Amino acid sequence: MSGPVPMDGDDTRTAVGAGATGPGRYRGFTTRAIHAGQEPDPATGAVIVPVHLTTTYKQDGVGGLRGGYEYSRSANPTRTALQEALAALEEGAAGLAFASGLAAEDTLLRTVCAPGDHVVLTGDAYGGTFRLLSKVLARWGLEHTPTDLTDLDAVRAAVRPTTRVVWCETPTNPLLGIADIAALAEIAHAAGALLVVDNTFASPYLQQPLTLGADVVVHSTTKYLGGHSDVVGGALVAADGGLGEQLAYHQNAMGAVAGPFDAWLVLRGIKTLAVRMDRHQDNAARIAAWLAGHPAVASVLYPGLPDHPGHDVAAEQMSGFGGMLSFRMRDGEEAALRVCERARLFTLAESLGGVESLIEHPGRMTHASAAGSPLEVPADLVRLSVGIEEADDLLADLDQALG
Ligand SMILES: *Cc1c(COP(=O)(O)O)cnc(C)c1O
Repeated sequence: MSGPVPMDGDDTRTAVGAGATGPGRYRGFTTRAIHAGQEPDPATGAVIVPVHLTTTYKQDGVGGLRGGYEYSRSANPTRTALQEALAALEEGAAGLAFASGLAAEDTLLRTVCAPGDHVVLTGDAYGGTFRLLSKVLARWGLEHTPTDLTDLDAVRAAVRPTTRVVWCETPTNPLLGIADIAALAEIAHAAGALLVVDNTFASPYLQQPLTLGADVVVHSTTKYLGGHSDVVGGALVAADGGLGEQLAYHQNAMGAVAGPFDAWLVLRGIKTLAVRMDRHQDNAARIAAWLAGHPAVASVLYPGLPDHPGHDVAAEQMSGFGGMLSFRMRDGEEAALRVCERARLFTLAESLGGVESLIEHPGRMTHASAAGSPLEVPADLVRLSVGIEEADDLLADLDQALG
């Protein structure tokens, strides 16, 4: 670890998720999702973690804190519960919850990097991540190189002596590319850099990057972890406790924390993550196979299809192929726009990972800001966030929209 990290002994009393209810305590993923960090409330016996709507905490004498709580930017018990759950699900040493995915990313990059450093990032990274690097952190002196992370030689060539972070998304958005996390960890570590994996698309249920050698996992909890399209949030999970402490210091110093109610909503979502993901991906697999046989569709991008270029790596490092897929229309952009506008059960909307199915046109919607950049996506592309409705109803809707 290097970077401008002012660990000056100023004790912020930030409770970092992990510890007593950490990964070692419960072995099964679904058990951890429901119980890690979520013991019944010791004061009342409440089975569900309360929403602690308080900014400050009574001290028993000056500096005499009960349970370590002092001020809710530094720590709040509802957020602590979420942070412990996140650390347990990703099998990390420390979890941290933020106001949004981008707030988590900004805090991470400004903790581990200094002006003059360099980031190698996924060529088709989430547009907001690319904008954070190219429009905000570039002005702070942080350099970046968009790179095809599925091409390991390209990654080796992109790494510089100043590279602090290799930033990986897998599967990528919206092209569903698959990068080899273990191979990237080796390259990053040999270069003295950290491997960061944005695990939003897979969720910790399907992929645990820290167990494959990554140093930090990023989430937009807005997506599958929240799971109900009703809360914006972000998370970081660090493999190493020391890095976790540095991130916690910056979480408090920069202040982009998750509020207690938002933390509670994400916690509630996490309890059902496993059963939702099973259904999301059963539906997505059926839809991918059906689309692949449709005459109006030129190609289907879904890592679960055997002819997907990342299928073997995905099968190795993921326990399932997820609920996101994209497809390209034979008749170009007009046809893609028409499908998006004719769909009814699939709601035309940005975002992803909720129980309801969404459809969108990345070129005009989520990735419009990438036009003309290395991240530009094909105009004939349609992206689906497959929900957990009845698969037959979803197929019937696509059939009429494509017809
Ligand atoms: C949505 C998203 C983000 C950003 O998260 P916000 O919660 O919207 O700030 C980052 N990465 C991926 C892959 C996303 O889908």
